[in-house]
Amino acid sequence: ALGAVLALALTACGQNSEGGSKAGGDDTEGGTIGIAMPTKSSERWIADGENMVKAFEAKGYKADLQYGDDKVENQVAQIENMISKGHEALVIAAIDGSSLTDVLRRAKEADIPVIAYDRLIRGTEDVDYYATFDNFKVGELQGRYIVDALKLEENEGEKFNLELFAGSPDDNNTGFFFRGAMSVLKPYIDDKRLVVRSGQTKMSQVTTLRWDGGTAQRRMDDLLSRHYGGERVDAVLSPYDGISIGVISALKSAGYGTEAKPYPVVTGQDAELASIKSIIAGQQTQTVFKDTRELAERAVQMTDAVLNDGKPEVNDTTSYDNGVKTVPAYLLEPVSIDKSNTDLLVDEGYYTADQLK
Ligand code: BGC
Repeated sequence: ALGAVLALALTACGQNSEGGSKAGGDDTEGGTIGIAMPTKSSERWIADGENMVKAFEAKGYKADLQYGDDKVENQVAQIENMISKGHEALVIAAIDGSSLTDVLRRAKEADIPVIAYDRLIRGTEDVDYYATFDNFKVGELQGRYIVDALKLEENEGEKFNLELFAGSPDDNNTGFFFRGAMSVLKPYIDDKRLVVRSGQTKMSQVTTLRWDGGTAQRRMDDLLSRHYGGERVDAVLSPYDGISIGVISALKSAGYGTEAKPYPVVTGQDAELASIKSIIAGQQTQTVFKDTRELAERAVQMTDAVLNDGKPEVNDTTSYDNGVKTVPAYLLEPVSIDKSNTDLLVDEGYYTADQLK
C-alpha cells in the first residue's frame, strides 16, 4: 500500500516511480540526456555525474554519462556520439572550454540544447545556459583566508612570503578563481607585505595544465629549491585540492611540517576527502566547499525546463561572456572550510562522520 501511495505521490509531482522513460505531467517524452564530464581523477566529477544521473532518472529521463579522461579528443568524440544517437539534450563540463565550437554547431543543427556545467563553454553561440558556482567568489574566499590567517590587517609591520598557483589555462574558471583571489591579495603584494620571492605573479606564469597535482608538486619543488634557501614560505594560494596535495608533498620533502618549520597556509577547493583529512591533520589549511549535489540538481532543472519550453531560472545575465555571447547563468554559493567547520560537511550529509576519521 505504501508503494502505491508513493507511486501516486510521485506521479502527482510529474515523476515516474519506475524511473522509466516517460516524464509525466506534460507531453515531453523522457528521452536520453547526454552528460559529458571531464575526468574521474577527481572525486567531485564522479559525484557530479552520479548525482545528475539520479536526478534525471527521478524526472523520468535516461542518462548517458561519459568521462573524457581529460583528453579533449575523447570528449569531442563522446559528444559527437551523443548527437548521433539523438539524445534530447547535452550537459557538458568541458575539458578545454574553447574546443567544442564545431561539435556544438552539429548539436545546434540537430536542435539539441546544451547546458554548460560548472565550466563555461567558450567561443560558441550554441550553448544555451550555464549552471555553476560563483567562481570569482571562490577565489575571493581563498585570498581572504590567506589575509586573515596571516593576520595582515592586524599586524601592519609584518611581511610574509607567498607563492601563487592557478588552475588549467584552458578552463574558463581558472581566470575567475585567480582574479577573485588577487582582488584580495594584490594590495598586500603591491605594498610588499606579501612577498612573492619567485616573482611569478602573473596568471600565465602560475597555471597548472589540467589541474594536475604532480605538475604542481614539481613546480613547488622547484620554487622551494630556487627561492627559499634560507627563507620560509608562509602561504600558498592553491586553487584546487589536488594541487594543494601536490604542493604539500613538495613542502614535506623540503622539511616542512615540524615545529621549527610549520606548514604554510595552503588553500584549496572542492572539499575532497583527502583534503578534509589533511585539514583535520593540520597540513592543508583551507578548502572551498561547493555542494555538487545542488549543482547537479540545478543543471537537471535547467535541462528539464528547456525541454519543456520553459524558462530556466537564472540569477546572473552579465558575468559570463564566452567571447560570442553572454550565457545566462545560475550561480550557487561556495563556502570556505577550515579546521573549525569541517563538521558542516557531516551536518549537510556530504560526508559521514566515519569518513572523516
Ligand atoms: C572546477 C573546480 C575544480 C577544478 C579541477 C574547475 O573547473 O570549478 O571545482 O577544482 O575544475 O577539477
